[in-house]
Amino acid sequence: MSKILKIDHLGIAVSNLEEAVKFYRDVLGLELEGFEDIPKQKVRVAMFRVGESRIELVEATSEDSAIYKYIKSRGEGLHHIALRVDDIRVFSREIAGKVDLIYKEPMDILGERLINFIHPKHSKGVMYELVERIKE
Ligand code: ZN
Repeated sequence: MSKILKIDHLGIAVSNLEEAVKFYRDVLGLELEGFEDIPKQKVRVAMFRVGESRIELVEATSEDSAIYKYIKSRGEGLHHIALRVDDIRVFSREIAGKVDLIYKEPMDILGERLINFIHPKHSKGVMYELVERIKE
C-alpha cells in the first residue's frame, strides 16, 4: 500500500518566467532553488522553497505545450497541486480504475522525481500531480 505524504508543491502557470520570479524572490523573499528545463513537457520551471514544500512556476517553451494551451484558455495562475507519494507506481495501481491518469507510466523528470497527473474531471476541476522524489 502506498500513501500521500504531503503537499510537495503548488504549480503556477506563468507566461514569463523571469518576470514572475521577481515577485516570489524579490517581494516575498523566497529562496529560488533554480531553473529547470524539461523538454519532455516543453516547459521551463523555477522552483522555490517554502518550508517543507515548494512553489513551482511553469512557463511553456512551445505553443504545443499543455501550459501554453492552459494559459491561452484560462490565463495565468494556479495550475496544479502536487501530492508527494512514497511509491508512485504502487499508488497509481491502487487508484487505477477509479481515475484516469494523464501518462501511462510515471514520467522521469531529470532523474530527480517521477510524476503523473490525475485527470481533473475526477477532482472538481483541480489538477493533481503525483510526485515520488528520487532525490530530495
Ligand atoms: Zn508540478
